[in-house]
Amino acid sequence: MSTAAARSTPTSTAADRRPPRAERAAQARLAVDRLRTSAVDAVAVGWVDNAGLARVKAVPVSGLEHAAAWGIGAAPCFDVFLVDDSITESPRTGGPVGDLRLYPDLDRLVPLAAQPGWAWAPADRYTQEGTAHPGCQRLFAHRMESAARERGLTLLAGIEVEWVAALAGPPDEEPRYPTHGPAYGLQRLTDLSDYLRDVLRALEQQGLTVLQIHPEYAPGQFEVSVAAEGPVAAADTAVLVRHTVRAVSARHGLRASFAPAVEPGGGLGNGAHLHLSLWRDGRNLGHGGPGPHGLTGEAEAFLAGVLTALPELLALGTPSPAGYLRLVPSRWAGAYQCWGLENREAALRLVTGSDGEQAQAANAEIKCFDATANPYLVVGAVIAAGLAGIDRELRLPPETAADPARLAQDTVRRLPADLAEAIAAYEKSVLLRDALGEPLYEAVLAVRRAEQELFAGRSDEELIAATRWRY
Ligand code: GLU
Ligand code: MG
Repeated sequence: MSTAAARSTPTSTAADRRPPRAERAAQARLAVDRLRTSAVDAVAVGWVDNAGLARVKAVPVSGLEHAAAWGIGAAPCFDVFLVDDSITESPRTGGPVGDLRLYPDLDRLVPLAAQPGWAWAPADRYTQEGTAHPGCQRLFAHRMESAARERGLTLLAGIEVEWVAALAGPPDEEPRYPTHGPAYGLQRLTDLSDYLRDVLRALEQQGLTVLQIHPEYAPGQFEVSVAAEGPVAAADTAVLVRHTVRAVSARHGLRASFAPAVEPGGGLGNGAHLHLSLWRDGRNLGHGGPGPHGLTGEAEAFLAGVLTALPELLALGTPSPAGYLRLVPSRWAGAYQCWGLENREAALRLVTGSDGEQAQAANAEIKCFDATANPYLVVGAVIAAGLAGIDRELRLPPETAADPARLAQDTVRRLPADLAEAIAAYEKSVLLRDALGEPLYEAVLAVRRAEQELFAGRSDEELIAATRWRY
């Protein structure tokens, strides 16, 4: 298949986004001056692995210049870590040998408001020879963002963060809730007033624009959403928001679970919905066009590409076996491969915005993903699927304007009902193999298969217990 993603791949592994070493060192010296005035002692340099866990190496502020110039060592086998910290292998990755360099992106460096003395920066991973590590998920997302930009397209993205707040406790303990207020209940805001204010304050102190924070449906559940930005920036922000919620929780004697299933019994879980809009020359392509609800041809084709690829995208966006306990009908999780205006049961929910703000606000929400996903893989793969939709001039199928669970089931398509089905779709995906490049594609596949095997035969309760406090 000839896709934009495929076209962008061949040169991509050698691409070096970094400025020259001397410039990086100079930028770090300026950053160090700023950090010292903010009383920062250490910098956490993080990345997200293929199991969706945020991993970290940290350096004292005095070591930041060296880290920016020469990178921080990290083993390549991190690419095949599983959620329980066991390590699998892929055809190209695994074993104890080798080294990579983590380069902090100093443009995203920020003092952490809820961890006095600490700052955070996301890392890009390079080889010791200075070429892009082909398994680096963040560089993959950058490549896809660039592939869109090369066609004159820019994207704005935002990832909603849902979490369950529980009293701190041991890892084998079921959640004990700090509030028993009703879903969306003002009572929850009263019970956890200081906590939620501190979350809000910390996010804003870190330069994020919070759009909304509210109690969600499930026991102890909350959600925060932040302003849309470029796709890689949005993935960085998702990592930072979760980290911040975790840190504020700890300061309040709480802990946060971002796991898709927190309670056995099939209640609502935590999703990580991705909002996206597509722009050309400053114009939102989701508005004012001749397509459904004002979509332009390009936006419709992009969304049709995403909708078509959802089964294989689930292997990246809903990558844990536990995610399929959440991704069921009638849970607002988007378990059906369909689209609809403001339809919360469709995997692809179209949002036009209110009269007067539509040119800014029109966007699409991919609902079926959760926070076990590596957000860089998600934004990168969604862009690849959308660009392929444009290449193939796809059109959206007819709209689903009702709850798909209530329609004749031979007229609507369920998304994969378990990880095995999503893996099967991923294994057949030329789109994702081309876009990710073989090493990253294989490492992801190895992690999916190994987690599938790890939890095979476990009851829902056991699966939830094993993953609840990991994400
Ligand atoms: N918590 C739901 C999910 O699992 C989403 C609720 C909502 O629509 O915000 O995705
Ligand atoms: Mg929500």
